[in-house]
Amino acid sequence: MARKLRQLEALDVDVLTGVGPKKRESLSEMEIETVLDLLTHYPRRYIDRTQQTEIRDLQAGVEGMVLARVKRTQGRRTRQGRSLVEVDIFDGSGYLKCTFFNQPWRAKQLKEGVEGIFFGKVDMYKGRKQMTNPGVDLVGDRTGRIIPVYPQSQKADLMTWELSKFVEEALDRAGEMVDPLPEQFRDELDLVDRTWAFRSIHGPETLNAAQAARKRLAFDELLRLQTTLVMRKRAVERESRGINHVIDGPLVPAFHASLPFPLTGAQQRAIAEIDKDLAGPHPMHRLLQGDVGAGKTVVAVSALLVAVQGGFQGAFMAPTEVLAEQHFLGMRQLLGGVMITDDNTLFAERPVRVELLTNRTGAADRTRIHAGLLDGSVDMLVGTHALLTEAVEFRALGVVVIDEQHRFGVEQRAALRGKGDDPDVLVMTATPIPRTAAMHVYGDLDMTVLDELPPGRTPVTTRWPRGPLEESEAWSTVRTEVEAGHQAYVVCPLIEESEKIQARSATDEFDRLRAEVYPDLRLALLHGQMAAKDKEAVMTAFRAGEIDVLVATTVIEVGVDVPNATVMVVEDADRFGIAQLHQLRGRVGRGAAHSYCFLIGEGSTPEGQARLEAMERTTDGFELAEVDLELRGEGTILGTRQKGRSDLKLASLRRDKDLVMEARRVAFAIVDSDQTLDKHPDLADEVQLLIDEEEAEFLFKS
Ligand code: ADP
Ligand code: MG
Repeated sequence: MARKLRQLEALDVDVLTGVGPKKRESLSEMEIETVLDLLTHYPRRYIDRTQQTEIRDLQAGVEGMVLARVKRTQGRRTRQGRSLVEVDIFDGSGYLKCTFFNQPWRAKQLKEGVEGIFFGKVDMYKGRKQMTNPGVDLVGDRTGRIIPVYPQSQKADLMTWELSKFVEEALDRAGEMVDPLPEQFRDELDLVDRTWAFRSIHGPETLNAAQAARKRLAFDELLRLQTTLVMRKRAVERESRGINHVIDGPLVPAFHASLPFPLTGAQQRAIAEIDKDLAGPHPMHRLLQGDVGAGKTVVAVSALLVAVQGGFQGAFMAPTEVLAEQHFLGMRQLLGGVMITDDNTLFAERPVRVELLTNRTGAADRTRIHAGLLDGSVDMLVGTHALLTEAVEFRALGVVVIDEQHRFGVEQRAALRGKGDDPDVLVMTATPIPRTAAMHVYGDLDMTVLDELPPGRTPVTTRWPRGPLEESEAWSTVRTEVEAGHQAYVVCPLIEESEKIQARSATDEFDRLRAEVYPDLRLALLHGQMAAKDKEAVMTAFRAGEIDVLVATTVIEVGVDVPNATVMVVEDADRFGIAQLHQLRGRVGRGAAHSYCFLIGEGSTPEGQARLEAMERTTDGFELAEVDLELRGEGTILGTRQKGRSDLKLASLRRDKDLVMEARRVAFAIVDSDQTLDKHPDLADEVQLLIDEEEAEFLFKS
């Protein structure tokens, strides 16, 4: 009988020869508890014995790696009493001296005749090449041309050759493994067999074999995850009846007619796609992605109005109070001229009623809003997660929009959905994420991309001043823009420690600018610690053009929409992430006039520099998202919100884009022919390894 992954997961690593309590602990430190963990602890790289750099060819000042044998080892103490171990190694082409400070145990480890991989920077000492405190990886008695090198624990008391030995035994014990991928797809995608893949990734005959093995195992990871996501999507569709919304009512056309601009092609496409979902029998579950300023709000409001025109209510949930307030104000303004028929009023018409609910809403307002939601007189509710509290009950919730920017969890989305009887859900993200990454974070949703900005936008000219002279250009541009009748933002440094300190430093900066730089201009301050009333007053004045320069913290990150603002200075910009800088910059360039963004900051780390350079180079959110993924790695983008993510050990959303697409296609093909995987029991078993019982029950219930 072929082995299942589940069986290997049930086997503790201590069954392996040589894994005593001490080694068991070291393995545990590397998060290797079971035989499956060990088999999925993949080599970090491979050494090809025949393709090694020779000592002769090492260059001073450069990182090098050689495979060599220890010829002589000598331990002693320096005059200062530090331990010093000097090791001479030889590889046939030449000798290299390796010097270890404060690692007296190296004398015992690196005995004469031992073979190992030595890597580190090469320097010159007294005319000879040497390495100081190089990394060492003992090869042991492994034979074969290709040697796998494993990631090791910090304490490094597990050598890669020991891991190799354990893995070898684990592979022997595993024997023939179950292959959950139907042969048809294996052939189609040119994927090798699973058992062969496990053997070859740990002990490849050639580097090509290792590549083929990697591709197969990476595909398996992606397939497990995509299968889970696709099943989740289909289960939700199966479970719910949904509302057949009326999409040809009067409200949406009235709304579009009231806008001072025509919809963009992308907006029209998005609205049509959403309408189709809304009219359909299944509840919508759609992600709306769009770059900053692409005009997502109009699309969201259109969806909410579809609910309203059919006698349902809409809810809009934002991740922060500031955002909720912004959206509320914006939506009120957008809906100002839209009337709804109401036979209870004298004129048989009334404005669409929008209310705001956050934790700051006073008790009296809260009671009034709760009542209005219950009797149906509130058409739309905007708010934070306060919408999820028990007291919030709708008469008939029809459409839910969640503006989330990765901030809400699957459970919270579900909780809001639970406020109605299978309402349609639109999730919006203002931070573009690459398509492949989106498939992981939002793989259970359909996707719409607003890939076109409203016309008349010119890209914001972005500068990262190198030096004080260029920096002064930033401050003078603020002045010239204000003199030309425009407005400016100055964004104060991000201080992670506390909002209070951040507010303090913004206040200081505000005082400095007012006293020393722009005594003659109208300045105002905006930060998160101010009372809502005061913030609103400042924003209203800024919108009305009564303020020239708004000195603010990141509270203005999203949602603020003042087309007359044409210049932004971001201080200590290297402290911000790319997504945040992109959002901030999106506050300018919203009108017809040319806009500027100055990113002041030293770029003290290479990453900080790369971020600022990227911002200077492009205004395309999707391109920036790719750079971000590149710089930060995928873990941070994907987060740990969804189970199964940790299963991605080999697959990379950057390098394996095609594989991600293929896995998604195969997952759809399998699930749509076999919704609870009855005909694919091995795949079902592996999917169940990734999810908890509750979800399994939901997904596998037919
Ligand atoms: P997003 O939320 O996608 O960042 P918004 O919905 O805030 O973008 O829209 C950005 C700005 O563009 C707003 O001022 C909005 O009124 C304006 N806008 C939206 N759609 C259009 C359009 N079709 N033509 C011109 N301006 C538009
Ligand atoms: Mg529907």
